[in-house]
This record gives sequence, structure tokens and C-alpha cells, in this order.
Amino acid sequence: MAEVSLKHIYKVYPNGTKAVNDFNMEIKDKEFIVFVGPSGCGKSTTLRMIAGLEDISAGELKIGDLIVNDVEPKDRDIAMVFQNYALYPHMTVYENIAFGLRLRKLPKDEIHKRVTEAAEILGITEYLGKKPKEMSGGQRQRVALGRAIVREPKVMLLDEPLSNLDAKLRTQMRAEISKLHSKLQTTFVYVTHDQVEAMTMGTRIVVMKNGFVQQIDTPKNLYNYPENKFVAGFIGTPQMNFFEGTLLKSGENVVINFDNSEAEITVPYSMLYKTKPSYLDGKTKVYIGLRPEDISLASDDVKNGKAVIKVSVSHKEELGSETLIYGDINLNGDGYVESSTRIIIKDNCEREINAGDLIDVALNLDKVHIFDAETEASVLPRIPEYNYLDCEVKGGKLGFLGTELVLPEAVKCADLKGELLIPTDAITFDGNIKAEVAACENINGVNLLALMLGGKRLYAVAPSLIGDKTVNIGVDLKKITIISNGENVVSPMPEINRFDCTFEKRKTVEKVEANGKVKNKKTAIFGFNVAGAFFKSSDDASQKIFAALGIKKAFSAPLKLECGVCDLHFTDSGIAAVAEETLDYGKEKFLKCKVGENTVYVKTETEYNGNVYLLPDFEKIGVVETEREIKII
Ligand code: ADP
Repeated sequence: MAEVSLKHIYKVYPNGTKAVNDFNMEIKDKEFIVFVGPSGCGKSTTLRMIAGLEDISAGELKIGDLIVNDVEPKDRDIAMVFQNYALYPHMTVYENIAFGLRLRKLPKDEIHKRVTEAAEILGITEYLGKKPKEMSGGQRQRVALGRAIVREPKVMLLDEPLSNLDAKLRTQMRAEISKLHSKLQTTFVYVTHDQVEAMTMGTRIVVMKNGFVQQIDTPKNLYNYPENKFVAGFIGTPQMNFFEGTLLKSGENVVINFDNSEAEITVPYSMLYKTKPSYLDGKTKVYIGLRPEDISLASDDVKNGKAVIKVSVSHKEELGSETLIYGDINLNGDGYVESSTRIIIKDNCEREINAGDLIDVALNLDKVHIFDAETEASVLPRIPEYNYLDCEVKGGKLGFLGTELVLPEAVKCADLKGELLIPTDAITFDGNIKAEVAACENINGVNLLALMLGGKRLYAVAPSLIGDKTVNIGVDLKKITIISNGENVVSPMPEINRFDCTFEKRKTVEKVEANGKVKNKKTAIFGFNVAGAFFKSSDDASQKIFAALGIKKAFSAPLKLECGVCDLHFTDSGIAAVAEETLDYGKEKFLKCKVGENTVYVKTETEYNGNVYLLPDFEKIGVVETEREIKII
């Protein structure tokens, strides 16, 4: 078994560079994972942390069932292959491959068996007696791979192993490494800056930028469903076209307007069901993304296409099997320079196109991507976070999509007409609102249910795939937002409580009896001070804090202790709090309390007022260092 689990992994170098931020991933046994991104995005640092060549600033790294944060590289059961091969020049290929095994004092015949087997797999048997300098780059990299294979590691780590090779050899070695992976049935983690390498080799790919993971997905999903403009632009050559524009809802259609161009296309609103309505106001700027291969010049497509726009051609690049046509949707624009109106089209040379031509092109709207102009996040997420609905509150009842819910005390508000935000995970399956099931799909482990209610679309995250035609749903009202005249009249209750706290060392004195005498024994204990209350920290938690902050800083760093609203309980002597209000959500009640500056919520059966004491469930707490925003636990 060789799963690799990375939980809240951070790397801050001593000079303050935050190279890796909150990296979370469960790598399954036998997966081929590729880390990809531009130079300096944190790929190698992450790989080197897995290898043990770099300390982990915070977070938990597991290989198999073992937490390996503090395990020496040689004891991690991994093997690493580097870009520069790192072969010993004075040794033969055989000796190079056998070297690590000899160090580990394996029996001679076992070493011989492993070396010859590896050489066989890699096709370098005939070179075993040669020295590295007598070999080509590709052959040397095979030797480096051989040296890794013979260790029979649980995990193979490869850092840009093909960067030193020429293009042809790279393609060949790519295929060989993929073949090697399926032969060895071992987990591979591979770093590259080359998106083609990533797409052709990875079972899943991690796209990184500036130390942050952008998306983790299969090659197909990254290409079809990029979650932001960076991923959309990084995957695919030539890169996706990005046009600036706006979206305007008009009845059951949406008009897509391209800035600085006459181009305008109309799409059915159903295509944009998952989009927040505020994007459809005709003013909010978006990027409209279309890949060069999703734009067609074919006369049939142009004749029958619903989305045809004009392009003035500036130049073209003949690539043999296809032609790249460069142009501009601003008919006075310059297709040579990258701009918000420049367009690149992948064409299969059906007819002769020349510079200066004014041509009609058909956009394949099934493949359109739309991104927020500021955050660059997709506004067509595969799993939408919210349902954005019109609503009305009248006489304490909330009306939306032709249905009504009685508002409990906590969310009661005056009569209004406004907007209702229901998170997709706030739809429950224990209510009495009958909804039709339009579709149910599993997206990366999440079951997304598309429902019809009152003739409109409602999305829900379901606990399992649902095959029924109808379901009875409810709404978790502590998660909803009601907006009227631009103001939040009802806000969701936070799911996580946060307390300011510090980490402290205290001395305890114990009376111990030895040789008939009673002595005082002093011991130091570590713990959290939350608003004057001290809680002993587990050894594991203390270790994580020292590892992330260093011994000195651990006691002065501003921290936040986090715990879920259901993981905070009443006690007789804990964190002193003042109960301010009982929030009655019908099925559940919560007490809103003040602890110093912090407002926290506690699930309750009864109403309290005044002074109470609280105790977090320390098995489930989180700790965040606020200065560098690092999640330590
Ligand atoms: P990549 O492998 O994606 O090219 P790296 O993981 O090598 O990126 O580097 C990530 C960031 O960390 C970069 O900004 C780099 O300059 C910085 N960095 C890497 N190594 C060190 C180091 N030893 N000390 C300080 N900063 C470093």
C-alpha cells in the first residue's frame, strides 16, 4: 500500500518565501500524479517535502499509514529521480544501479538479480559495463531510473527527469516512463513545467501557481472544466482565447457581448443555470473563453451555426496537418498582438484563407467557458456553491420557487421582496417540499442533483446518487442568506467558531513518593490559553506547533483556535463566555456567545442567559497562525 496523504502542507523558507500554501491531496495507491505549473510555483518544493529533502513548515504528510514528517529520507521507502541524473562518472552502469543496494548490504545475488531485471525493463542490458560518459542523455536517464527501480520503493518521485533531453527523445521517454509505471504498479509523483508532458502522463494532475494549488483533476477534466482562467490558459496549445465582455439575460436567453467588437451571440439561459444572476446584468465584466479548436471555419458550421461572428485575418501558421489562423474580432484590431479581441483558430485547411480576409467563424457554444474578470474563477462551476433565487417574505413565511417555508425565530424578518441564497449543501432530504429530479451526476466524488421546483432549476449536493423521479427536500435555514435592497437581512450562521488564543508553557508540581520520602516533582506542560482558560495540549498538537513556529515563536505567535459549532460544549469551568441570544432554527437551537472580542455559537437544548463556560472538543480542533495565515492543525 502506498497512498500519500498531504494535509494542510505549507513550506515557508527561512527568508520568508511562502513556497507552498495549504496543499491538500490524497494520492491513491498506484496513481501517476503530475505536479505542473510555471517555474517557481512550488512543484519541486512539494516533491522535495515528500522525499524528505526539505522540512515541512506545517501540515501532515503520510506515506501509507505512517506520518513521515520527521522520518529520514532513507527510511521513507521512496526513490527519487532528478533532472541531472546524478550518476557517479567513475562507476559503470552496473555499479551505478547497484550502488544503493550495496550500501544497504543486500546479498550479492539479490543485487545481481535486481540490477539485471531493471536493466532488462529499461532496455540497457548491453550498456551495463559502460561508464555514463559513453552514453547519451536518454540512456543516462534510464540508468537513473534503474537505480530508483531496484530499491523497489513504495513511491517513485521524479523531478523534471526529461528536461535535459531533446524533443524527440523526450516524447519517447515519456512513453517509456508511462509504460514503466504500469509495469511497476507503484505510485508515481512527477514534476514538470510542460503541460503536454503532464497531460499525456498523469492519471491526475495538480496545477499550481505562486505556491497555491489551482486545480487537481484528471487531464480530461482539466481540459473540459478548468476552474479558473489560469488553468484554462495553461492547459492546451495554442492557449484558449479569452475575450472581455458582458452577459445580459433577456427572457429565456442570454446575450453574450464582446467588448470592442461588433460580435454578439445569444445563448439559451439553460446554459447558464449555474451562474450567479448578478453576472447576467449586462455590466459585470467577464472573460469569455473558447479554445482555438472549438471555433470552426467549415462552411456547414458557419451556415448552420447559431453563433457566428466576423473575424479579420491577420496572418496564419501552417503546421502541416492543421493551420493556425490569427485574427481579431475587432475588425480594426491587430491579430499579431495578444489582446482581449485577438482570436486564434485551429483550422483543418478546408479552404484557402489569407491575411486581410474578413471571414465568418462559428463558435461551438457547448464549449464556452466564462470567468470572473477580477477573481478569474469560473462563473460556470461544475458544482455550484449557491442557488440564487428570487424570494418573498410575508407574514413570517418565506416564499421561493412556488413553495413556502415558515421562518423560525432565528431567521424571522419583516415582509420583503429580495434575493435568497441557498447553498447547494443546505438542501436536506428530510423535508416536505416535493421536487422533480432532472439529473444526478457524480462529479469528483460529489453527487450533484439538478432539481426542478416551480419550473426553475435548483441544485443540491446529495449524500448518494438518486435514481428516483421526485424527492422530498427541505432547507437548512441556518445556512441561508436573504438580501433585500442590497443588504443582508438574514445571514448564515458560521459553521466554524474561532477563538483568539496563545500557546503557553506552564509548570506543574506533583508530589511523588520515593524511598519513603515525599518529593515535589516539577514538570512542564504545554497548552492553549483561550480567554484566560488553560487547556493542556496533546503531545501531537504541541509537536505540530513547535515544528511550524519554532520553539521561541510558538509562545508569542497570535493563534486562532477553531472548532465546529457542534464541537463546542457547555461545562462547569472552561472558557468564560457571555450568552447573548438563543437562535431558534426550529429543529436546532444555538446559543450566541461572546468570548472577549470573539462571537461563537454553541448547539443547545435549553436557553441560557448570562455567564456560561465552554469546552471545545480537543480531538477536533484546528489551530491557525494568523500572522502568516498558516493552518497548523
Ligand atoms: P518550481 O519547482 O515550481 O519551479 P520551487 O518549488 O523550486 O518551484 O520554488 C518555489 C518558490 O520557493 C520559488 O519562489 C523559489 O524561489 C523559492 N525557493 C526555492 N528554494 C528556496 C530556498 N532554498 N530558499 C528560499 N526560497 C526558495
